[in-house]
Amino acid sequence: MVVLGSTGSIGINTLEIAKKFNIAVEVLACGSNIKLLNEQIQTHKPKVVVIANKEDMKDVNHNNVYAGQENLLSIIADAKSSLVVNAYVGFLGLRPTLVAIESGKRVALANKESLVACGAFIDTSKIQPIDSEHFGLWYLLQERPIEKMIITASGGAFRDWDLKKLQNATLADTQKHPNWSMGQKITIDSATMVNKMFELLEARWLFGEGSYDAIIETKSLIHAMIDFKDGSTTAHFANASMQLPIAYALDAKMDEKILNNVNLLKVGSLEFREIKTDRYPVWEIREELLKNPIAGIVINAANEVAIEKFINKEIGFMEISSMILKAHNTFTTMPKNVDDVFALDEEIRKCLSN
Ligand code: NAD
Ligand code: MG
Repeated sequence: MVVLGSTGSIGINTLEIAKKFNIAVEVLACGSNIKLLNEQIQTHKPKVVVIANKEDMKDVNHNNVYAGQENLLSIIADAKSSLVVNAYVGFLGLRPTLVAIESGKRVALANKESLVACGAFIDTSKIQPIDSEHFGLWYLLQERPIEKMIITASGGAFRDWDLKKLQNATLADTQKHPNWSMGQKITIDSATMVNKMFELLEARWLFGEGSYDAIIETKSLIHAMIDFKDGSTTAHFANASMQLPIAYALDAKMDEKILNNVNLLKVGSLEFREIKTDRYPVWEIREELLKNPIAGIVINAANEVAIEKFINKEIGFMEISSMILKAHNTFTTMPKNVDDVFALDEEIRKCLSN
């Protein structure tokens, strides 16, 4: 298989599962963590390696190294593997998803920004989602009349914070996620609840029109629930580890133990909370977005610009949400094809960066 973003949180877990199931790695691609990449090269012996920057090429212990997005895209297209795991973070993951599908490959997709920004123009039958919530929904889906699909949120780093303190929250504060250890961007997205909004949009593209919602479950042991027309509800319980969704994305007929089952006696109790707009202002537009999911491109671009500004200390934490809401009201012409998606992304970034 081809692993994009091999040195990230998902990438590392993916290579663990690949080792467990003896899956050969043809291509390893990542950004700039060359030290970890060199360790991965030793273990997995890929045929080709791709990194972000030319300057780092000399430090990579491999005789077939390339740099940059152009090279990456042709390597994906030419790869012999039938599976591409896309664990890049952000909009930069979209082209690789499109090229992998165009060249007839199956995509195990962790890069949620691909679907959020361009779901209308992606053939989701070629995609296996790597996310606990969509894996949970897929796991629960049965041939029974469904009323509603519900995913859960942890509430992120600030779920218990005094609302007044949120203005002054720092980057370091956003990274104290209660249940999951993930990359920097998705951990910020959890604190703003943008991540859950993204997941509702992804669910809409993956599982089609219907009724979707999210609630907070503070221990992240339930990932998804389905309300059926008959009044019954099923839930997917699993310990908080991405290795389960990854294992199914790499080999859907897995019958080996991946995780220990949740021990409900040890867990003792669960707590559920409503997602409120005073703490998570982006939640205001969730129904509108689910009706018009193509607008995900706007939310994604505004979010990436806002996060960069927040990291550079140009704006406060709550301004991430206000920038997103403002962009949602400003950019209302929706893309009609993939080229429009890239053009609109660029336009929004230009407008908001000033
Ligand atoms: P991460 O920040 O830990 O890793 C990102 C990877 O992308 C790294 O390998 C990095 O080297 C690479 N990268 C970053 N910038 C690059 C660039 N300019 N050029 C080339 N490579 C670059 O992120 P993560 O937490 O693993 O998340 C990856 C994706 O999976 C995100 O879209 C995230 O929302 C999604 N996701 C993550 C989790 C999780 O548990 N971490 C769960 C569900 C979905
Ligand atoms: Mg998730």
